Amino acid sequence: MILVLLISLAFLIWAIQREVERVATPETIQVVDTCSCCSAVIEPEWLVCPHCRERLSESCRHCHRGKLVSQAHCPYCGVAAAGVSR
Ligand SMILES: [Zn+2]
Ligand SMILES: [Zn+2]
Repeated sequence: MILVLLISLAFLIWAIQREVERVATPETIQVVDTCSCCSAVIEPEWLVCPHCRERLSESCRHCHRGKLVSQAHCPYCGVAAAGVSR
């Protein structure tokens, strides 16, 4: 009985891992961020463009999470960026 349980558990773990791998590697939809200055492909986490040194992200003054300079409001807490009056 325990053996059957173990086998079904192992199968369940295998199935979950397969599903996670499928979700983690999307083949069709891929959002690519580009630098607003030189149009180079950039990573969302980058703070400065390595090609032209344009400032890409800044930390929110309220929740201190990274947000793009081009975003007028923080996507996490909704607080307006410095210099933006609602
Ligand atoms: Zn750039
Ligand atoms: Zn914020």
